[in-house]
Amino acid sequence: MATKNSMSIAAKGYALHDEQAKFDLFNFQRRAPDEYDIMIEIYFCGICHSDIHQSRNEWHNSIYPMVPGHEITGIAKMVGSSVATIQVGDAEHFVCKLPNGLDLAKTAPLLCAGITSYAPFQEHNVGPNTRVGYD
Ligand SMILES: [Zn+2]
Repeated sequence: MATKNSMSIAAKGYALHDEQAKFDLFNFQRRAPDEYDIMIEIYFCGICHSDIHQSRNEWHNSIYPMVPGHEITGIAKMVGSSVATIQVGDAEHFVCKLPNGLDLAKTAPLLCAGITSYAPFQEHNVGPNTRVGYD
């Protein structure tokens, strides 16, 4: 893959143009991937509550137009020359190689919520026969 260049790639997503807007198909240009990037063809995307906060500018830092959603699954279409762990054709999320055969449609919505719930459980050694919450 080429190093940084001035090429751009046509892309599309469902965008919001302000905090009151509804999703609208949005065509835009992305910079060309460089040697450390992976270009993914996105097949499925979940929306988490952080996306909703950003969409509605509830954290007062939103930038529009916005294509929310970071819980994506898809297939690697281009891999930079400095990327060693992912190959073209791998199924991915954020960029983690997913096991072969995993249902991408069912995986995408679980990613952000699953990770943000799972990480504290790991950190606090929550496991079988552990109670979470108050008595
Ligand atoms: Zn999220």
